[in-house]
Amino acid sequence: MSGGRSLKTPADLAEAGLIGDAALAEVRQVAARYAVAVTPAIAALIDRADPDDPIARQFLPSAAELVTLAEERDDPIGDHAHTPVKGIVHRYPDRVLFKAVHVCPVYCRFCFRREMVGPDGDGTLAPAEMDAAFAYIAAHPQIWEVILTGGDPLILSSRRLAEIMRRLAVIEHVKIVRFHTRVPVASPESIDAELIAALKESGKTLWVALHANHPRELTPQARAACARLVDAGIAMISQSVLLKGVNDDPAVLGELMRAFVETRIKPYYLHHPDLAPGTSHFRLDIGEGQRIVAALRGRLSGLCQPAYVLDIPGGHGKAPLGPDAVRPAADGCWSVSDFRGNAHVWPPVA
Ligand code: SF4
Repeated sequence: MSGGRSLKTPADLAEAGLIGDAALAEVRQVAARYAVAVTPAIAALIDRADPDDPIARQFLPSAAELVTLAEERDDPIGDHAHTPVKGIVHRYPDRVLFKAVHVCPVYCRFCFRREMVGPDGDGTLAPAEMDAAFAYIAAHPQIWEVILTGGDPLILSSRRLAEIMRRLAVIEHVKIVRFHTRVPVASPESIDAELIAALKESGKTLWVALHANHPRELTPQARAACARLVDAGIAMISQSVLLKGVNDDPAVLGELMRAFVETRIKPYYLHHPDLAPGTSHFRLDIGEGQRIVAALRGRLSGLCQPAYVLDIPGGHGKAPLGPDAVRPAADGCWSVSDFRGNAHVWPPVA
């Protein structure tokens, strides 16, 4: 779907019939604290007749967000601890996050950076801050990959994207540029020839990580937008968050992973939800997550298997949460678990 404008206030949502009058006061309280935006493509996907609609749950503010638990934190994955200059997060030696923009086309209610993104968020980088970010990347030859995230980098105009890509083009040691985005789903019409040409200005190898959490998000329009990227030689991977009430079901999650693969997107990360404030209604137990992920093994093609990971709070990076498939066993052997949870000795005893 294209055209129309994004819904950005509780009144917009009410007018579009997405929230009822009874919820309006609480939604106003939520919107006073956390950013709200629903694009026409996402609004069209919401099933207004279903009170538990998994698309609505991801994007429409709810009173549950007013509950903040003691263990929740403003910077759940510890970006600030690894920020040498504004807009850069250097957590791992060979790559940096480059947060050039702080706004998104849609605001996910479970967002791990919800205290940093939005119109009142961390702010888009000023020209001098941009210069400092590029200088940092240029001065660190170990930076092999630059990951544009934020915010959603594909919300930038083609002119600004081309400018960023031209500045990366001259940094010889950067070989890979990756974008983390919701745009192909939230505003598929934005993935046009001009945007793709802008991305290709750098001459670097490009990867686009699509964030989607429910198979219904992969509409024909979204799939076509991804096909335009892939046909242009841009490789795609997925990232999803395992969310209670959205995709915490092996059938739904499996359908999502298959939709990615059908769209030529390799499933990459399945994140356990972070401890972002006001998001406890989305979190499930890690053991439950492991059972859901284990149910994909054996049932779905290996192409459809994402890595289930947890970002360790405090900026300690990602830890795999997949089933503990391989453990040392007696006599120098290994114990390997199959998809039914049965342990086998490897190498097998003759
Ligand atoms: S698109 Fe990403 S950064 Fe933006 S609100 Fe959603 S999860 Fe947060």
